[in-house]
Order: sequence, then C-alpha cells, then structure tokens
Amino acid sequence: MKKIAVFPGSFDPITIGHESIIKRAIPLFDKIYVAVGVNSYKTSLFTLEKRIEWLKKVFEDEPSIVVDSFSGLTVDYCKKVDAKYILRGLRTSADFEFERSVGQINKQIYENIETVFFLSAITHTPLNSSIVRDILKNNGDVSKFIPQKIQGLIKL
Ligand code: ADP
Repeated sequence: MKKIAVFPGSFDPITIGHESIIKRAIPLFDKIYVAVGVNSYKTSLFTLEKRIEWLKKVFEDEPSIVVDSFSGLTVDYCKKVDAKYILRGLRTSADFEFERSVGQINKQIYENIETVFFLSAITHTPLNSSIVRDILKNNGDVSKFIPQKIQGLIKL
C-alpha cells in the first residue's frame, strides 16, 4: 500500500521552515500533498493562486510532491486523496499544545489518520509566515527566510 501524506497549511507565504520540513518528509512517503487550506474565517495576505504558484515552483523538481488546495476539514481532504498521514512541524511548546489537540480531535473524527510531527531545525524555530508578512509590509528584506527557488518573487 502506498504511503500518502498531506501537509496542510496556509503558506502565506511559504518559508524555508515549511520547505525544510517537507523536504525531510519526502524520503518517508510515496506521495505528499502540500495543500493550502482555504479558511473562510482566516484572511490571507496573498491570493490562493500566488501561494500555489510559489509552492509549485519550490517543489518543481520533486515528483512525489503534489501542490493542491482544499476547503473544509483536513481529514475530509485526506479521505479524498486517500492519505493516512497528516504532516505538521513543531517549533515550540505552544505549537505542540495546539497541534496535540488538533491531532487528537482529528483521530477522533477519522480513526485511520495518524499525525506525524517533525521538529523544526534549530535555526527555523523563530520563523513563521506572519513575521515574513510583517517584514514585507515594512519594506524589509525577507530573502533569508524564503526558499531559494522563489527568491525575489514574493512582493506586495
Ligand atoms: P497553519 O495556518 O495551518 O498553521 P502554516 O503555513 O502557518 O499553516 O504552517 C503549516 C505547518 O508548517 C505547521 O505545522 C507549522 O507548525 C509548520 N511550520 C511553519 N513554520 C515553520 C518553521 N519555521 N519550522 C518548522 N515548521 C514550521
């Protein structure tokens, strides 16, 4: 049976933190859906189209990565694409507490799902998309935090 995983997120925008976790997961799974969750009550800075375009560019040389989007429950999307694993990154204990409850509830909703956690690289612990958005809004340089493949493309 093929091992299929979903890495859900907002990716608003993708950072080297996301890229690193996804690349580390590639050897463990046959296919990984990197899926942008479209959330009606969470507004994003960048359009869905832009976020998808950047994800596709970052993973263009990775045949096992499929970039997609979904709305609704993550577990329903997992059922749709036949994924048994949800991938998430852990930076801090705050991430852990949040992810623990989401993971445990997802397991209650769909018993066949397993959430697999990756500890962030030490250098990526302070990094998140919201900091990158703040730097961009204030005309700062985000190049250190953005994947190599999309350097210079992320602009407001
Ligand atoms: P969400 O809105 O679902 O939290 P994000 O795009 O912010 O979406 O994050 C998606 C996943 O990537 C989460 O599991 C998050 O913990 C992880 N992640 C985000 N930034 C980093 C980072 N710097 N290092 C490791 N994991 C990260």
